[in-house]
Amino acid sequence: MTVIQWFPGHMAKALRLVKEKLNLVDIVLELVDARLPESSRNPQLEQLLETKPHIMVLTKKDMADPNVTARWLRYYESKGIPAVAVDSQHGQLSAIEKKINVVLKDKLALRESKGIIQQRVKVMCIGIPNVGKSTLLNHLVNKNVAITGNRPGVTKAQQWLKAGKLMSLLDTPGILWPKFEDQEIGKRLALTGAIKDSLYAKDDIALYGLEHFKQTNPKALQEKYKLTDEQMQLSNVDLLLELTKKMGFKEDYDRASERIIFDIRQSKLGRYTLEIPQLGGE
Ligand code: GDP
Repeated sequence: MTVIQWFPGHMAKALRLVKEKLNLVDIVLELVDARLPESSRNPQLEQLLETKPHIMVLTKKDMADPNVTARWLRYYESKGIPAVAVDSQHGQLSAIEKKINVVLKDKLALRESKGIIQQRVKVMCIGIPNVGKSTLLNHLVNKNVAITGNRPGVTKAQQWLKAGKLMSLLDTPGILWPKFEDQEIGKRLALTGAIKDSLYAKDDIALYGLEHFKQTNPKALQEKYKLTDEQMQLSNVDLLLELTKKMGFKEDYDRASERIIFDIRQSKLGRYTLEIPQLGGE
C-alpha cells in the first residue's frame, strides 16, 4: 500500500505535476474505487478536467456490489461523464478502448480523414493512492512495468507505453490526494484501506463497517461471525464487544476492530458498495 503524507506543499506539487502532464495527453482515465466512487475522487480533479476529455474508470468492480456499480455507471453517464467499470487485475483493454473510441470519435475521424491513422491516442491515468493505477497500467500494457515516480516529489523522464493498437499510456500515473474534509468520506476511505491506518480510530471504522453490513447485508455479517438472532439485535458497540470475546481477544476491542476491518477489506463478508448515487442524478 502506498503511504503518502499529504502536506500542503505536496498537494501543490502533485497538482502542478498533473497539470503539466495533462498538456501531453489526449484523454484522461480518472480512476475511482467502485465501492466508493464519489468519496474516492480527488476534490480538485473535476475542475481540472473540464477542458480535457476524460473517462471515469470504476476500479475493483469485482469487490463492489454489481447492481450498485451499474447504477453508478448510469449516474455518471447521465451527467455526461463516460464511465466504465473494471477489474484491474484482469485484461480490461477492450472495454477501455471501446470507451475511448466513443469519446474521441470526432478527433479520430478527423485524424483518419487526414490520413493520420497511425498516431496513437495519448492517455494518462489519474487517481488517489491505492485505487489501482499501477495494477491497471500493468495490465493494459501487458507486462510488468516498474512504475517508479509513483509518489509526489519523485520525478523522472516520461515514457510512453503501448497498450493494444490504440493507446500510448504515460508510464507515470498522476497521483492526487483523497478528500479529507468530511467524516463520513474519511470512514469510507479508511474502511477500504485508501488512507493510512494511523489516521483514524480503529473502533470507529469497525463500528462503521458493522453498521453498513447490518443495513445492507445482515445475512453476510451473521454468517461470517456466526451470530445469533439476538446478537444481531445488539447495538453496534455491544456487538463489537461481543465479537471481541468471540474472537478470543478478551477486552481488546482494538484487535477485534482490526480483524473486522481486515475481513471487510478482504471481501470476507462478500462484495459491498459503501455509497449509492444521489437520487435525481440517475
Ligand atoms: P495505486 O496506488 O493506485 O497504483 O494502486 P495499486 O495498483 O498499487 O493497487 C492497490 C491494491 O489494490 C493492490 O493490492 C492491488 O492488487 C489491488 N487492486 C487494484 N485493482 C484491483 C481490482 O480491480 N480488483 C481487486 N480485487 N484488487 C485490485
